[in-house]
Amino acid sequence: MFKKILIANRGEIAVRVLRACRDMGIVSVAVYSEADRHALHTQLADESVCIGPAPSKDSYLNMKQVISAALASRADAIHPGYGYLSENAEFAELCGQHGITFIGPAPKALRLLGDKARAIETARNAGAPVVPGSDGALPDMDAAKAWAEKIGFPLMLKAAAGGGGRGIRLLRGAGELESAFATASEEAKSFFGDGRMYMEKYIEHPRHIEFQILGDQHGNIVHLGERECSLQRRHQKLLEEAPSPFLTEEKRAEMGAAAVKIAKAAGYFSAGTIEFLAGADERFYFMEMNPRIQVEHPVTELITGIDLVSEQIRVALGEPLGYIQEDIALKGHAMECRVNAEDPDKGFAPRPGTINGLHVPGGPGVRVDAAIYQGYTVPPFYDSLLAKLVVHGRDRTEALARMKRAMAEFLFEGVVTNCDFHLKLLEHEGFRNGDYSVDTIGELL
Ligand code: ADP
Ligand code: ADP
Ligand code: MG
Repeated sequence: MFKKILIANRGEIAVRVLRACRDMGIVSVAVYSEADRHALHTQLADESVCIGPAPSKDSYLNMKQVISAALASRADAIHPGYGYLSENAEFAELCGQHGITFIGPAPKALRLLGDKARAIETARNAGAPVVPGSDGALPDMDAAKAWAEKIGFPLMLKAAAGGGGRGIRLLRGAGELESAFATASEEAKSFFGDGRMYMEKYIEHPRHIEFQILGDQHGNIVHLGERECSLQRRHQKLLEEAPSPFLTEEKRAEMGAAAVKIAKAAGYFSAGTIEFLAGADERFYFMEMNPRIQVEHPVTELITGIDLVSEQIRVALGEPLGYIQEDIALKGHAMECRVNAEDPDKGFAPRPGTINGLHVPGGPGVRVDAAIYQGYTVPPFYDSLLAKLVVHGRDRTEALARMKRAMAEFLFEGVVTNCDFHLKLLEHEGFRNGDYSVDTIGELL
């Protein structure tokens, strides 16, 4: 077993990982920026190391500083969480070169999946359905025009290196192509350091359904069912649930088998997520694979009883999974709401500040993953995620009732949150009936 793990992240996911370490008897090391001296992860970890100034590029994204902190604290392994360095193949390689285990897939898989155009090609070769689109990245404007004509409008222009809903453009007609191509490519260059774009058919009113994958280093891969993530604002998830109200048992088996095949073709191990789009005609298409722990992973933990973070740690040690697909049983229904420090009445603008008063919900079926406390000042430099409120019930009706109960109990003073917006969403007729798509929140607004 690892003796010590360094957690190269902040916020709720850093706290989540250190809790897994503590459950497993592993010493945890937090890294923190100067703005995070009083952050919960800094305080809860067994040890903590300051790695630089507030801006992420000088601290949480600074590979040399993170590796130095790991070497100085004699950590055996690094857990990267999500975002930041979690999908960075160069960083994973650097860990290896210094004798530190990277808790995640092999650098080769990261490199393949970090390029969304190549990932699509891998999925297609594995026999999985993909959205009709350009063959790889578009070399220039002429190629973009030719492919647009072939695919037909409306279409999506997407950054090959994209993530977090950035670098995506919906194009309704040929007139929009030229300027969108230029601006989206610029945006991708500044966000991801890579301006390559690809194109795919726009699926109308789709649902975003993703499958949780777990694999070991001996070639065993299982899926842990799906998460329904269609409730999004600007391509960013707001509420997730599992199982999807949309899937039949047969469809689940079919999509799950496709997901496992894609993961195998990518030479994947550790936890990962295969994202699909499902059209109104119930056909589904591979969209991308996220080679890391996902924000919404607790939803899957609640319906499977499997601790995904400790499984990542076990797999990184080389341990076999020890179970097969038939052993995985899905029990009940789970939902997660992302509580953000943002103002829904002002275009969801981030609203950092000091949490003067706080009441955290509890009771049967309620789990809160967060990194907040009364008196904590939310710094303006990072993500606006305050807490993930996750509930479990015997069925969707019970889970929904529990989510409403818990959300109504969640109280914040000093920061503006989207809690009231969530309460409205929970009352939305389409949501209550399980009849919604990625367009639902936009329509509601
Ligand atoms: P999930 O699919 O796990 O919900 P998100 O897409 O919401 O993940 O992203 C999780 C976090 O990682 C967010 O903070 C997001 O901004 C960040 N993120 C995701 N992909 C990238 C990327 N390629 N580059 C930088 N940040 C990213
Ligand atoms: P990211 O890497 O930023 O997560 P994704 O490729 O996963 O980007 O797409 C994010 C979201 O954009 C999807 O969940 C979906 O809502 C929407 N989307 C992406 N591709 C399409 C498409 N071809 N047609 C319709 N909607 C799409
Ligand atoms: Mg995605």
